[in-house]
Parts: sequence; C-alpha cells; structure tokens
Amino acid sequence: MKRFEPTFRGEVWVIAECSEGRVIPATLELVGKARELADSLETDVGVVLCGWAVEPLAQELITAGADTVYLVEHEILSRFDPLAYRKAISEVVAQHWPQIVLFAATPQGRLLAPMASYRLRCGLTADCTSLDIRDSSRKGQVGILLQTRPALGGNVMATICTKDSRSQMATARPGVMRRLPDDPTRTGTVVRCPAKITPDDLCMQVIDTELAAGSVNFEAAVIVSGGKGLQNRDNYEALLSSLCAALRRRLGTEVERGASRAAVERGFAERVRQVGQTGTAVSPKLYLALGISGAIQHMIGIADTETIIAVNNDPNAPILKMCDYYMVANVEDVVPQLVAALEGE
Ligand SMILES: Cc1cc2nc3c(=O)[nH]c(=O)nc-3n(C[C@H](O)[C@H](O)[C@H](O)COP(=O)(O)OP(=O)(O)OC[C@H]3O[C@@H](n4cnc5c(N)ncnc54)[C@H](O)[C@@H]3O)c2cc1C
Repeated sequence: MKRFEPTFRGEVWVIAECSEGRVIPATLELVGKARELADSLETDVGVVLCGWAVEPLAQELITAGADTVYLVEHEILSRFDPLAYRKAISEVVAQHWPQIVLFAATPQGRLLAPMASYRLRCGLTADCTSLDIRDSSRKGQVGILLQTRPALGGNVMATICTKDSRSQMATARPGVMRRLPDDPTRTGTVVRCPAKITPDDLCMQVIDTELAAGSVNFEAAVIVSGGKGLQNRDNYEALLSSLCAALRRRLGTEVERGASRAAVERGFAERVRQVGQTGTAVSPKLYLALGISGAIQHMIGIADTETIIAVNNDPNAPILKMCDYYMVANVEDVVPQLVAALEGE
C-alpha cells in the first residue's frame, strides 16, 4: 500500500505567556490542544518559554503535556516588549521550524503573533475556535491544520488552511481549548536557546502599570450571565448578586457574573464581563443564561461549557434549543424562587 508523506514536518509548538511569575491558564489550554494535534501527527509538543528566571515554570508545562521546553532567558525579556519578544521568538522558530505554532489570543498574543508571522513569512489565522488535522491524501495533503473561526459577523464558521506556509500559525481565545489533567509523572527536556537581544531591540518604555478596574474570574466553576432580558442595570445587579451569593453558599464554589453584548452595550455590566465571540470564551461546569436569546456570537463563547441552563420568557428563543435545561418564565419571577430553593434545606 502506498504510504503518503506528510505535507509538513516538525513539532507542534505553543508560545507560552507568563504573568506575575506564573504560566497563564490559556497557555496550558493550548498545550493540551497541541498534545492532541501532535499525537495525531506522531510528533512532539514544544513550548517556547521566554522571560527572565522562568526556568522553574518549565516543569509545569511538561506536566501539562509538553515534551520539550525551549527556554529563551534574558534579563531584557523580564518585561513584555513586542519587538524584543518578536525577535526572540522568531529566532527560535527559524532554528527549528515547527509545523504548527499556537499563541493565546490574549492582548500580548494578539500583538505578538502577527508580528512574528510577518517576520517569518508564515500564514496566521486569528481567534480560532477549533483546530484539527486533515488528511486528504488524494490531493497529496497529509497532516494539514484546519483552523476554524467565525467569519462574516459570526454568521458562518470559516475553515482556513495555510498550506504554503512553512509553519502554520494560529491564535486561539482563552477558554476555547481544553487543558489536559496534569500528569506529574511526565518527563521532558529543557533546551536552552540563547537570545541575541540588546537594549536597542526594545521599543517600549513602561512608565507605570495600573490594573484595569473590574477584573473578573472567568475560571470560576459557575458563571451566571445576564442579557438584555434583564431590562436594566438595577435588575442585573440585584438578580445576579442574589443568585450568585446563593449558589456560592450552596455549592461552596467560585461563582462569577457574565453578560451578553446587548447587556454590556446598555450599561448593565462592564465590558470585561462580556461572554462570546468579541468578549471572553468561557468553559465553566455550569452556565446560567438569564434573559439571553442565544445569538451565535454568544453561544460560541460558551461552546465548551458542561451544562447550560437558560431562563427566557420566549418559548421560541434559540437558546432553548442549545441548552441542557431551561425554564420558560420571567427572570424576575424565577430568580427569587431559585434563591429561596438554594437557601432552603
Ligand atoms: C461581530 C459581532 C460580534 C458579537 N459578539 C458578541 C459577543 O461576544 N457576545 C454577545 O453576547 N453578543 C455578541 N454579539 C451580539 C449578538 O449578535 C446578539 O445581539 C447579542 O448576543 C444579544 O444579546 P441578548 O441575548 O442579551 O439580547 P436579545 O437578543 O435581545 O435577547 C434578549 C432575550 O431576553 C428574553 N427576555 C426578555 N425579557 C425577559 C424576561 N423578563 N425574562 C426572561 N427573558 C426575557 C427575550 O425573549 C430574548 O430572548 C455580536 C454581534 C456581532 C455582529
């Protein structure tokens, strides 16, 4: 039987991102995805870890699924600087030419990925919601990365291939890919890669750092989101805070508040709380959607949720066909009853 040669060779790589001395969860999710892709391509997972004094983080990446950590350490890399990081990453990619390079679609990754892909003359697909391998041996295409993302205002899902690119590059939103369970028995290799960086490579002078107000914890196991159906900010505040508090007490777990874009645009909630295509993709165990219709741009952001419960007073609301459980009722009637039930014995 004829054996087809893969179109691409090399490892599957993730560009790691760190914050406050830790690897961010989005990187660990991408390592999980890279593991799945690499296993189907019968190759290894590499992670590029840039920074200063970051070597202790390498084991966490190996535990999460990496085979090799390419360590690029330099004092100049202790703070993120777009040009210095682009140089460090482009150099290490150009030495090894992995077949796939994944970046988290965080503010840092969104800045870095196009700069690195342009420098390396590689194709890049931004904001992927799914990544798979296609074998089309009849066309001589084996092991091509299918990069799927919403297009045309979220009305279609476009699947993009960058077949003429030496490395296939993509960004994926935090929360979209699944982190693998940690395996402390995994072993891997740390490869030190010297970074030829000088202060002339820096383009940014950080004068001061301020944390944005209203940060949210979308890693919470339970997220309760409100939509336009909540009518106003007072309802959003009152109904969501009472329900979140009751869930927190009853389940003993972290509960966070989210919102649809329509709710954010009407000022019910801050922009950081928006869930969906242009907000944050979340993957909690339980997602409660209150007064949310179920537009595709919202549902993309909760595609990996374990259980979705919707409350909507329209029996024809699209979300009712996409959730696990629903109540056709007014939120202002249902939420106090839910709170009373959660607080009862
Ligand atoms: C490019 C693009 C990107 C987008 N990105 C996002 C995104 O990231 N996130 C996002 O959410 N949207 C996004 N949108 C907007 C999206 O298309 C929808 O407009 C939005 O999700 C609708 O929000 P909603 O469900 O709160 O409002 P609506 O669609 O107006 O739905 C309100 C729902 O509340 C119900 N309702 C009304 N009163 C009550 C009541 N008293 N009790 C119970 N139910 C009630 C209604 O039956 C209705 O189903 C995007 C759109 C575009 C074009």
